[in-house]
Amino acid sequence: MSVARVLARKGHDVITVSAQNTLQVVAGILAIRRVGAAVVVDAHGVIAGIISERDIIRAIGESGPSVLDKPVSAYMTAKVFTTTPAASLASLMQAMTEGRFRHVPVLTNGALDGLISIGDVVKTHLDDLENEHRAMRDYIATA
Ligand code: AMP
Repeated sequence: MSVARVLARKGHDVITVSAQNTLQVVAGILAIRRVGAAVVVDAHGVIAGIISERDIIRAIGESGPSVLDKPVSAYMTAKVFTTTPAASLASLMQAMTEGRFRHVPVLTNGALDGLISIGDVVKTHLDDLENEHRAMRDYIATA
């Protein structure tokens, strides 16, 4: 299974924020959109980082709620692991496990084209298993 097939199923929407946004604004966006991370982009849509709920919780835990007024740039991860539509889901699972992150932006010809979360990976995996089981049951029933 490829990243492209997952995106075809889930869509290409990506929630983006600017590095100048405050953590408070981003926390509000993550809550309303019911997602765990936003990709930080510059004025040209180029990836500048990624900020996840984990970064916000860590910042509050270390410095208190006043950090919510601070900019995303101070708490985002600037070195972002990205993937491409041609990549396999297996390689993505390995990267997520080794890198200990749950979100991976997808780039098509260098431009942001989607985001795969660990939830998408698990759902795809379960769907595949379900299809395999159904095919086996059908095969046994008709053999
Ligand atoms: P997550 O598990 O995605 O909530 O993120 C855990 C940590 O990894 C946070 O510090 C994120 O900023 C960071 N992170 C999330 N996704 C990525 C990614 N694709 N590349 C690099 N770091 C990431």
